[in-house]
Amino acid sequence: MFLQHNPVSVSCAVLQIDKYLYSMRFSDETLKDIMSRFRREMESGLCRDTNPTASVKMLPTFVRSIPDGSEKGDFIALDLGGSNFRILRVKVTQDKKQPVQMESQVYETPDDIIHGSGTQLFDHVADCLGDFMEKQQIKDKKLPVGFTFSFPCAQTKLDEAVLVTWTKKFKASGVEGMDVVKLLNRAIKKRGDYEADIMAVVNDTVGTMMTCGFDDQRCEVGIIIGTGTNACYMEELRHIDMVEGDEGRMCINTEWGAFGDDGSLEDIRTEFDREIDRGSLNPGKQLFEKMASGMYMGELVRLILVKMAKEGLLFEGRITPELLTKGKIETKHVSAIEKTKEGLKKCMEILTRLGVEPSDEDCLAVQHVCTIVSFRSANLISATLGAILSRLKENKGIARLRTTVGIDGSLYKMHPQYARRLHKTVRRLVPDSDVRFLLSESGSGKGAAMVTAVAYRLTEQARQ
Ligand code: BGC
Ligand code: MG
Repeated sequence: MFLQHNPVSVSCAVLQIDKYLYSMRFSDETLKDIMSRFRREMESGLCRDTNPTASVKMLPTFVRSIPDGSEKGDFIALDLGGSNFRILRVKVTQDKKQPVQMESQVYETPDDIIHGSGTQLFDHVADCLGDFMEKQQIKDKKLPVGFTFSFPCAQTKLDEAVLVTWTKKFKASGVEGMDVVKLLNRAIKKRGDYEADIMAVVNDTVGTMMTCGFDDQRCEVGIIIGTGTNACYMEELRHIDMVEGDEGRMCINTEWGAFGDDGSLEDIRTEFDREIDRGSLNPGKQLFEKMASGMYMGELVRLILVKMAKEGLLFEGRITPELLTKGKIETKHVSAIEKTKEGLKKCMEILTRLGVEPSDEDCLAVQHVCTIVSFRSANLISATLGAILSRLKENKGIARLRTTVGIDGSLYKMHPQYARRLHKTVRRLVPDSDVRFLLSESGSGKGAAMVTAVAYRLTEQARQ
């Protein structure tokens, strides 16, 4: 039984691993250094001269205002690129008690579709939308649609979004460099049995910020820590060279997942990070994302365990085909293993399924590996988020920043310790701030509907 383990050997295993994974544990000094590197990356992404070669793209989103409460209407939102493909119907009313009503449905996105042709992918989206409208009995209406598309897109207006590059699990051909609004409109037209008016494309970070902004007016940052990771925030328009105008603010999609793609994180990347990258769909790209997001975390742990087992440091050197199989350890397993009470029991179950016949001490060791890997992720994201917060503070020229960060994403939500570690580290790195972390309860799709609602209100106002 676990409760009877020998405390001496326990601390031995832990210390040994601390030493083994030394390069994954960061001091505050290193974190502050990463924070200032990211500050510089943000500046070079915003600046006209350096933008073309900047790895952190700092994409303008053309979202300028957050909901002011006067929005109303009946909207459709599509949410593609997160862990689920979801379609929502969002009704916004002036009802004080329940201003937003939502109904939603999740649709499958099979691998052969997300890795097939762009035409197939958008035909599938249009089919699902048709199915949803049929079920909602709104096929005869032309409702305004907001599209949460969780990939880097170059925008020159709200309803045009050219895909810069696929990330995460997606790789449909013929979409990069294309306007996804046009592709979706084409697919809808081809069907010909319903109409839709796509009014806004938003990144999921922007959707999250908007969703949280509806409940907390102070929300000016949105972050996702899920399959992928990214953040957006409200920047002063006078600092955004790529967009005309100097008055007011615009939301910038940082695309921080690409931090390090120019080599600027080489000193902190490990052999495991390089191996992950080599085996990925997009080698050389999204290097920060590969160190921090949910899609890669389980695999990072697996690669570490394989190496340790090969060196005889785990499982008495036993290596099984399962342990050697890519994807056999998932992020949800890391989350289960780090649970305070049942973590070690879960660890035993998971390792037993891999056939490595773990001892109690192996389980403690593996739990500690998980802690180091997930803590590194929280630390890295604290550093980049810290950079955004310090920039906000500087932009406002105030001594103390009071702000709200809207957050969503499966890793942040499901991992038992992640949120607490992130909050603590951010507060330590940016001491002159009062940061509220607000979990987006209803997802980024609602945010797309909110952006659409604002856009709709503005067009309606312009028409009058
Ligand atoms: C994408 C971002 C997105 C993030 C979270 C990244 O891979 O590049 O656009 O916001 O994942 O979904
Ligand atoms: Mg400007």
